[in-house]
Amino acid sequence: MYAAGAARAMAACRHIDAPSRRPDLARAMSAPDPESWIRITERGFYVVPGGFHVDPTRPVANAVVTHGHADHARPDHNAVLATPATLAIMRHRYGDRAGRRQQPLVYGESVRIGAVTVTFRPAGHVLGSAQAVLDYAGSRIVVSGDYKREVDPTCAPFEPVPCDAFVTEATFGLPVFRHPAASGEVRRLLEAQRLFPERALLVGVYALGKAQRLIALLRANGYDRPVYLHGALQGLCELYQAHGIALGELRPATGQAKPTLAGEIVLAPPAALNDRWARRLPEPLPCMASGWMRVRQRARQRGVELPLVISDHADWDDLTATLREVGAPRVWVTHGNEDALCHWAAGQGFDAKALAVVGWGEEDADPEEAAIR
Ligand SMILES: [Zn+2]
Ligand SMILES: [Zn+2]
Repeated sequence: MYAAGAARAMAACRHIDAPSRRPDLARAMSAPDPESWIRITERGFYVVPGGFHVDPTRPVANAVVTHGHADHARPDHNAVLATPATLAIMRHRYGDRAGRRQQPLVYGESVRIGAVTVTFRPAGHVLGSAQAVLDYAGSRIVVSGDYKREVDPTCAPFEPVPCDAFVTEATFGLPVFRHPAASGEVRRLLEAQRLFPERALLVGVYALGKAQRLIALLRANGYDRPVYLHGALQGLCELYQAHGIALGELRPATGQAKPTLAGEIVLAPPAALNDRWARRLPEPLPCMASGWMRVRQRARQRGVELPLVISDHADWDDLTATLREVGAPRVWVTHGNEDALCHWAAGQGFDAKALAVVGWGEEDADPEEAAIR
C-alpha cells in the first residue's frame, strides 16, 4: 500500500489527483501495516509471510541477499536469492559455502516466495547491489541494503521506489558528513603522483567496490598507466572485468622490482597499509579511500598522509534527499548513526525508528576493523 505515501504526496496537488485517489485509499486501508509482517530475530530481518530473511547475519533456510559485502552476504545459507553478480561475488568469496541453492534474479524481475513478491532494484553501492522490494497483500517494504546516489561507473544507479516502509542505512547519518565529489578526490591523488615521482602511492581500499571504483575513476580522469594490485584485490577486480566493467591494465604489485613501483599507484586492503607488505614499495606514500577519511583523526591514526574522501555510502544530504524522494511514511534506520537520521525524519513527519539488526554495518563502521574485505 505504497498508496499511503503516494496519497500524502498527492495531497499537495489534489486538484488533479482527486479522482484517482479513492481506489488507492481503499486499498491502503485494507493492506497490512508493514510492521505486522516483519520480525527482527537473532538471525536478522525476517519476512514472516515469505519465510525468508533479508541479509541474514547467521545461516538460515532462505536468504534474500542485497549485495556481496560480508555484513550482508554471509556463508552457509540453504537457499540464496540475489542478483547474478552478487551470487558470483559470494561464490568467489565462499566457494562451496556460498549457499546450497542459488537463485539469480535480475533487476526489475520478480519472484514469489510464500505470499511475498520480491523484486530487485539497483542500489548504486557496488556491482550487483540491489534494494529488495517486498510486496505483500498491497503493502510494500523496501530494504535498500547499502546505497549511494553519486554516479559510479562500476554499478547501476540507485532507483527510488515508492513504498510504505523504507529501510535505510545511516553509515554517514550525521550532518557533518558531506562527501566531496569523488572525481575531485581522484585528481588530488593524481596531483600527489605528479609531485612525488620517486614514491609509490599506496592506497588502502576495500576489496569489493572501492578498489574497482577507484580504478574506474582514475580511467575516467584519463589515467592509462597500469594500476598495481595487492594479491587480495586481484580476484574481485577480475570478477568485475568479467561482468563487463572496464578497468584497464592491472598488474600484481607483488613480485615487481622495487624501482618499478616508483611513482606508481598501488592499491591494497587497508590492513596492508601499515603491514610488512608495504616495505617492498619505494618510499610508500600512504593514502586511503574511504568516507571515513572525512574524520581527520582516523586518517592520522592510520598514518594516512593523503586521505581521499570517497564513499560508497550516501552522505547526509543524499540520505535525507532519498527519504524525501522515496516518500515512505515509515522509515527504519540501520547501520550506525541512527539517532540523528531518525530525529531529522521525525521532524519531517516520517514515522522513523532505529532497526536493531545486530551485525549489519560491521563492514562499514570503521576501516580499522575491516581487514580484507
Ligand atoms: Zn555494503
Ligand atoms: Zn552494510
